[in-house]
Amino acid sequence: MSKVIGLYWFTNDLRVHDNPLLSKAAAEVDQLICLYCYPSVSPYLARYSQQAKWSEPKLQFLDASLHCLNLSLNALNQRLLVVDSHPYHAIKDLVYGLGVSHLYVDAVAGCDEQSIIDSLKAEFDALDVAQKEVRTLFTLEQLPFELSALPDTFTQFRKQVEPLVVPLPISWVKRLPSLPDTLSLPGISLTHHGGSALFEGGEQAGLAHCRRYFSSACPSEYKETRNALDGLDYSTKFSPWLAHGCLSAKTIYAMLKRYERLNGANESTYWIYFELLWREYFYWYARRYRQKLFRFGGIRNQPPLTSFYAHRFQQWKNGQTPFAIVNACMHQLNQTGYMSNRGRQLVASCLIHELGLDWRYGAAYFESQLIDYDVASNWGNWQYLAGVGADPRGSRQFNLEKQTQMYDPYQEFIDRWQGRCDASPLDSVDMVDWPVLTGRRDPSAVGKP
Ligand SMILES: Cc1cc2nc3c(=O)[nH]c(=O)nc-3n(C[C@H](O)[C@H](O)[C@H](O)COP(=O)(O)OP(=O)(O)OC[C@H]3O[C@@H](n4cnc5c(N)ncnc54)[C@H](O)[C@@H]3O)c2cc1C
Repeated sequence: MSKVIGLYWFTNDLRVHDNPLLSKAAAEVDQLICLYCYPSVSPYLARYSQQAKWSEPKLQFLDASLHCLNLSLNALNQRLLVVDSHPYHAIKDLVYGLGVSHLYVDAVAGCDEQSIIDSLKAEFDALDVAQKEVRTLFTLEQLPFELSALPDTFTQFRKQVEPLVVPLPISWVKRLPSLPDTLSLPGISLTHHGGSALFEGGEQAGLAHCRRYFSSACPSEYKETRNALDGLDYSTKFSPWLAHGCLSAKTIYAMLKRYERLNGANESTYWIYFELLWREYFYWYARRYRQKLFRFGGIRNQPPLTSFYAHRFQQWKNGQTPFAIVNACMHQLNQTGYMSNRGRQLVASCLIHELGLDWRYGAAYFESQLIDYDVASNWGNWQYLAGVGADPRGSRQFNLEKQTQMYDPYQEFIDRWQGRCDASPLDSVDMVDWPVLTGRRDPSAVGKP
């Protein structure tokens, strides 16, 4: 009898622990291919970010995460096949070439990835496609409302989901089916792992970070410290591992509950859960609104009164605006791939309100730089701040001077990240000086509006 061949397409779920979809694949097929398609900068992203490449910190974190996943798979007599081709073509080739009959993939938040899955389903009638939420606290079935009736505001959402029980994480997959004998694709080698990154990618490093965090006193002080701009302990720093799926939200939740049992619950420990619910909200929001997540006018198609000024955008990216706090945050981002939540709010407010720029340019630049880039949290937060998203109360403008007094009263952060620079006046360069990008075009990329 011929063997049942499955394909697990890893996306932002780069882990073996608490991975119910991988367990499902292990139980259902005789042979398994574990695939990862290395991301390329799409024409849409190149256009809005004005970047042809991903940032080094981002690549370093990703490669270390893939390297770690491969080691975990090796321990189960498997390996990760990393290819440099578009997922649609890579999967199609494997379905045709090896007779893959089962495809397993996370219930992705991104509309591009979902379009690829939908196209594959349409092309291969017989392909059995299993999608499951492997990155969230809750599953679609658990939600007390239809996705089409997702509450308009975070507060309404939170009140409805807070009574739900967060399922316990499941244990490590103990056994995986072997690779098909006929698989001969070499895959690409990873070049960025190792080095001196701010955070080390991979599920082992992510789990170690969580254990460290929950064995400190930080969770009990989180609410008081979370708005700081610099340092490792003021907030949890779970985001890089959560974004790549090296850590599962359920694992973090279980560790949080254990911490509360041992040390007592307080407002701060609750607030960690509260922030995880923001992440949860944006995930369902992205699934609910799909392409509208990237639309200038947002979910209600009401475009803000902003535009694009090439020189201003360049100043913002390089941290050369007239606002020292913004410059310091942008230097921090450019050097490390990370920025605090407060910093993200300030630089986004500056881009939208002080520089009058189209928010999508800022969101795209974040996408190209952040080590914790997450499609739902990033574009959802940008929409929210631009006043075209989740909260109908309009856009949020921060008083940058006041914020500096509150969060950097002695200007230590500004000094450390050299925020006081000789900013040239806004718009001092003519449009013809703007560089022309030569980003790789991917003809099969699914376009965003
Ligand atoms: C303009 C803008 C863009 C952002 N882009 C991203 C992004 O691409 N990826 C990303 O993970 N977060 C993003 N955030 C949310 C937030 O800034 C980061 O999650 C947070 O700074 C990460 O640091 P932390 O893990 O120490 O967070 P903590 O403060 O310790 O929070 C714990 C966890 O809760 C979640 N969380 C916290 N705040 C938010 C929020 N506002 N929205 C969604 N989830 C949240 C994160 O998963 C985070 O790891 C963005 C926020 C803004 C304002």
